[in-house]
Amino acid sequence: MSTPVILVIDDMPDRLDSVSVTLKHRYAGDYQIIAESSATAALRRLGELRDDATPVVLVLTAVFTTAGHAELLGQVRGLHPSARRVLLVPRVGSDEPSLRVPTSLLQDRSVALPVLEAMALGLVESYLPAPASPSDEGFHRGVSELLEEWAHLVPRDRPAVRIISDDGSPRSHEIRDLLGRNSIPYLFQSANSPSGRQALRAAKASRSPLPVLILHTGEILSDPANQEIAAAFGLSSLPAATVDVAIVGAGPAGLSAAVNTASEGLSTAVLEREAIGGQAGSSSLIRNYLGFPRGISGASLATRAFEQAWSFGASMSIVGAVNRLRPDGDGYTLDLATGAVLRARSVIIATGVSYRRLAAPGMDRLTGAGVYYGAISSEASAFGGQHVYIAGAANSAGQAAVNVARYAARVTILARGASLGARMSQYLVEQLQATANIDVRTTTEVVAADGHTRLETLTLTNRLTGSTDTVAASALLVLIGAVPHTDWIPDIARDERGFIVTGPDLERLIAPSSGRLPSETSMPGVFAAGDVRSGSIKRVASAVGEGAIAGASAVQYLCSAAVNHRQLVAQPR
Ligand SMILES: Cc1cc2nc3c(=O)[nH]c(=O)nc-3n(C[C@H](O)[C@H](O)[C@H](O)COP(=O)(O)OP(=O)(O)OC[C@H]3O[C@@H](n4cnc5c(N)ncnc54)[C@H](O)[C@@H]3O)c2cc1C
Repeated sequence: MSTPVILVIDDMPDRLDSVSVTLKHRYAGDYQIIAESSATAALRRLGELRDDATPVVLVLTAVFTTAGHAELLGQVRGLHPSARRVLLVPRVGSDEPSLRVPTSLLQDRSVALPVLEAMALGLVESYLPAPASPSDEGFHRGVSELLEEWAHLVPRDRPAVRIISDDGSPRSHEIRDLLGRNSIPYLFQSANSPSGRQALRAAKASRSPLPVLILHTGEILSDPANQEIAAAFGLSSLPAATVDVAIVGAGPAGLSAAVNTASEGLSTAVLEREAIGGQAGSSSLIRNYLGFPRGISGASLATRAFEQAWSFGASMSIVGAVNRLRPDGDGYTLDLATGAVLRARSVIIATGVSYRRLAAPGMDRLTGAGVYYGAISSEASAFGGQHVYIAGAANSAGQAAVNVARYAARVTILARGASLGARMSQYLVEQLQATANIDVRTTTEVVAADGHTRLETLTLTNRLTGSTDTVAASALLVLIGAVPHTDWIPDIARDERGFIVTGPDLERLIAPSSGRLPSETSMPGVFAAGDVRSGSIKRVASAVGEGAIAGASAVQYLCSAAVNHRQLVAQPR
């Protein structure tokens, strides 16, 4: 791969010089730093770099006084979809101190407007105040985070796993999704390509059932189950002894609960059926989570939370779903789908919700082969140049459309209702309207999906007129709502839609007063947090907050249980 490029654009020569010197000072060893003084020259250069297959990592452009930057940034996306686009906010003078948010932006809203608009419309991934000096560490922190995000998006020179499989194989898609969502870098090679055949020969696996996984250690896995893949990366061990807290689900709620129980000295095991990070892990950019003013990708948030829980001593496994919870003496036994068993004194349920399925002929057969449930942000780049349809009209559908439109030639949102406004945030509606390659078909639903080995066409019906047409489609992402994952705990009190009822709400269901701790369920010592809880706000921040409350409740429950039994269960560090 040729040396990746960081491109700086500014029409003020002094500023352009100062930013490029700062970048060269720190990054010239690993990146080419290119400076251009106009949008036209920058676009020409970006075209040349694309033709040479030279990757562009960062495009930093000053807020131009003309409207030029919006147009420029829109075109960057078409030329280099993985490039992180950054709006540079110029300093008022060379002696202006390095402030996180420059005073000029805080004092005058009209100065801040182009920056805020570019963020809201998704024209940039971030903004950065121009560096005050070559050693402006605040500036470099922002740049490093963007470089790290880019490295996560592009195929790796040194992947942890090479996957060799037939194109369009549903199992290969599942494995890539599993690895991508668990932040394990992989490289996919088609078994029909010369490099794929060569890799299979070198691994002596030409006759092995596909997909074949070649691990960085040299170990070969042929058509492996998820548990085997988890074991290869140390994500499959279950504690043999009874743990203080078992947490089911490793989304934001479960990981937050784990940080809060493990940091209080409780032995904590997190059981996850597929991917650390949960739904949030599949979000391309979370902008409303406190502490990340320029947003954070779901994958980065999940990796950080996982590491934080691990650093306090929580054990993590992604060995498969927990499919039964049984009272057992003074605690509970959890049965896993794999046949494994874990015993715990208390349990936190943070299993979130599952996507609602779209019932139409062909959908099940083509799931994983052009039809996908969820936003699959880790694979959005695979839609390069294609026409992708998205069924759904809520925020998750809008975010997926914006993300996929970075790569796809065209994205069409299929909404059953007459407009998007009812269930989608206004900022997203505006972002969709501002994105040239996204269109919306209202009062429309999918009535059939068809294709030989993968999705080729969709049949759509207009619910008002009854007219039907069949359109060519490379992919369909289905984001049409969700149901809580609670069917494995039939004995727990749930509301009419299946969400788990907790705390004071239980008093309506259980008489007399239940006296339960906050977030405790109808089963003593079993707590619920996040999307799965009745009345929850379906957001990352609220899931994290609820996880913290459930963790604190578990600590309180075990401490009082310990006092009752005159034995110390929880030993704060
Ligand atoms: C595409 C997308 C974008 C989003 N963007 C945003 C955003 O920008 N901002 C925002 O605030 N919110 C956003 N959300 C919503 C947010 O992701 C959720 O509200 C949040 O993830 C809920 O966290 P949770 O831990 O409760 O559940 P989840 O994140 O759903 O995690 C639950 C976990 O439990 C696991 N699980 C389920 N059943 C079992 C079982 N039986 N055994 C073991 N494990 C099990 C699941 O595999 C999953 O990993 C987005 C959601 C989506 C889908």
